[in-house]
Amino acid sequence: MSASALKPSKLFHFTGLSSMYQRISRRFASKLVYSEYGDPIKVIHKEKEDVLEPETKQVLIKMLAAPVNPADINTIQGKYPSKPPLPAVPGNEGVGVIEKVGPEVEGLCEGDHVVPLTNNLGTWRTHLVLPTNNILKVPKNLGLVEAATLTVNPCTAYRMLRDFIPLKPGDTVIQNGANSACGQNVIQICRSWGVRTVNVVRSRPDIEKLKSYLMDLGATHVLTEEEVRSTDIFKAGKVDKPKLALNCVGGKSALEIMRYLQNGCPIITYGGMSREPVTVPTSALIFKDIKVRGFWMTRWSKEKSDSVERIEMFEELISMMTNNDLRGPVYEMIKFDNYTEALMNTMTVKGMIGKKFILDFS
Ligand code: NDP
Repeated sequence: MSASALKPSKLFHFTGLSSMYQRISRRFASKLVYSEYGDPIKVIHKEKEDVLEPETKQVLIKMLAAPVNPADINTIQGKYPSKPPLPAVPGNEGVGVIEKVGPEVEGLCEGDHVVPLTNNLGTWRTHLVLPTNNILKVPKNLGLVEAATLTVNPCTAYRMLRDFIPLKPGDTVIQNGANSACGQNVIQICRSWGVRTVNVVRSRPDIEKLKSYLMDLGATHVLTEEEVRSTDIFKAGKVDKPKLALNCVGGKSALEIMRYLQNGCPIITYGGMSREPVTVPTSALIFKDIKVRGFWMTRWSKEKSDSVERIEMFEELISMMTNNDLRGPVYEMIKFDNYTEALMNTMTVKGMIGKKFILDFS
């Protein structure tokens, strides 16, 4: 007898067993939810929901992994400019596998790995139904961590290196917070393009270990915040003065990297991890004409959602990743049930965490 002949409606219609069958076949998903902004540990809880059927031009995705980024924490705290309507499921990026395709879906099938493309879709959940125009199919040989963290940090690094000043092989980029996930991407993309990087990190007891990790990624120089103040690498001609400075820290750290810029060149602020403002010396503006700019990936992605540039960016990044020229950040996988561990570790104000925490839904 074929499977279709065993349709429950035919077997159980008159016996009252139909609803029992539906209850048995009902599948549950889990999601994290918050209904008010505040301390993530207090406002987030886990909830069950039905696994939904994909409708026309939709797919059902089983999430595999999703990172906890600093911006996710700020969003839950209500301190981030993009505020999802409440109640909301946190999580801005991740990777999943298609479990089921709805009617009229073309070019995607069960088993494909996909990455959600729109901000604040709520990726900290086991299952997600999305329209096909909101996802990007990624190759199955793309690493899980690389795929789960594709849309935020690699894209931010890529755009900042592409969009503010033309860089050619041999040019120099200077950055602080160089051990951040974004900084690690900057180092590797620059290495791939032949661009040199001067990387500034905070000192720590095992600083040599961190320095050699970043050198292995392709850093040209790694200096602590103390060392960068007195370095002779520019005067001695070991590298040209930077054409681009990337700042995710602020305060004195931003000042130090700005100091070395060539005249007329930009410093791009994309994060404020020290919570200190960026101050610009008057002389840097008058005599050096330093361009003080900012970058926000969320805005870029909204403005360029259907652009060729966006497709080309993903193609280039994915190709670097599958060729092992661009690897994901240092990370630790955390089982979904232990999500509070990932939150607490990412929330620490003093930093020095040394890795990205990635929720594992398996
Ligand atoms: P990670 O968690 O990977 O890295 C955090 C970085 O911040 C580390 O380099 C860490 O250095 C440093 N840091 C943490 N606390 C402090 C502190 N108190 N003072 C100085 N440095 C500190 O983060 P991401 O790479 O995911 O993000 C880095 C920053 O970039 C965040 O501010 C994030 O919001 C921002 N960002 C912005 C984007 C945009 O579009 N504008 C997109 C992506 C990220 P240490 O090891 O010394 O603590």
